[in-house]
Amino acid sequence: MAFDGTTIPVAKPLIGAEERNAVDRVMSTGRVAQGPEVAAFETEFSDVLVPGAHSVAVNSGTSALHLGLLAAGIGLGDEVIVPAFTFAATANSVALTGAIPVFADIDPSTFNLDPASAAAAVTERTRAIMPVHLYGQAADMDAFDDLAKKHGLAILEDAAQAHASSWNGKPVGSFGTFAAFSLYPTKNMTSGEGGMVTTNDHEFARRVRVLRNQGMEKQYRNEVVGLNNRMTDIHAAIGRVQLTKILDWTARRQANAAVLHEGLAGLSGVVTPSVADRATHVYHQYTIRLSGSTARERDAFVTALKDEHGVGAGVYYPIPVNRLDSFLVEADLPQTESAAQEVLSLPVHPALEEEDLQRIVTAVASVARAGAS
Ligand SMILES: *Cc1c(COP(=O)(O)O)cnc(C)c1O
Repeated sequence: MAFDGTTIPVAKPLIGAEERNAVDRVMSTGRVAQGPEVAAFETEFSDVLVPGAHSVAVNSGTSALHLGLLAAGIGLGDEVIVPAFTFAATANSVALTGAIPVFADIDPSTFNLDPASAAAAVTERTRAIMPVHLYGQAADMDAFDDLAKKHGLAILEDAAQAHASSWNGKPVGSFGTFAAFSLYPTKNMTSGEGGMVTTNDHEFARRVRVLRNQGMEKQYRNEVVGLNNRMTDIHAAIGRVQLTKILDWTARRQANAAVLHEGLAGLSGVVTPSVADRATHVYHQYTIRLSGSTARERDAFVTALKDEHGVGAGVYYPIPVNRLDSFLVEADLPQTESAAQEVLSLPVHPALEEEDLQRIVTAVASVARAGAS
């Protein structure tokens, strides 16, 4: 039976009157490029999400990764170990520096980079490991720390999906040489477009500030070749408002995930997300697996959720990054391959109502049972 109500979207940016007023306030000053709002946003971002760190705002999460890599001196001929089960920006940013992204496999229970697979990918040319805190769950930073120490590697965190997540009680964004956060509209908080580099190192933060601004600290005294990756004060003003809400929204995501978890427990063929002992999960996505499914069966499941029940679901990510036309790198990644055909993400965002959550649970159970018969 076709569903004829309003579909529950898989993601919904929450942008309201406070954000609109903040934009208006900045616009009315006539000063809209990088200025005092960006500086305030940086300080507040550190205070709320990565206490003690330096934050540097840029125009996207991808720019945050790219400038972080450049500031870390990663370049031509260097190898950086990355997962293939992620958004392409993780590997793109490495490739854009001239370095080589080397793809390693994931842990099937968390979907995060597997430390053992990363260890097996280390060569003479490896300079860094870039774990992604995928779907909002912190990667195993103890294991990566050991691996990095053993081989003299840098740790670079892709924290694009993981604002307010933590490992062993320590916030993501505080582990590596640097971390990159995304502020794209569908992420856990937004500035419109935007990104943030966090680092514990004052001099490293300065290098990122210089790189985002054409390579200059003093005007027209360019020290290095840089880019224009600045954030505008308009975007920073939006981000500052969202920062006052991110912790409440995170609690809402976690509460929504708990409802889904309970509702879907014991459903045959459906594996709900599991959280590692020392990790927190901020549920950027609530991602289930259809165990043993083909990509075609999974896609049919997604279509049935939407067409028959009005439940929007997403597939992140259907094609491992090493197999995209932009890379086409041979790699033996069995866990990545099976995750890419079995996963689907259900709505878990803070705008969901109790009845939405019940509709999602009922829909998944009904489609799962229909498929099993
Ligand atoms: C969104 C995302 C990025 C890129 O962030 P943008 O702000 O879209 O440039 C990088 N890595 C991961 C894992 C992401 O989800």
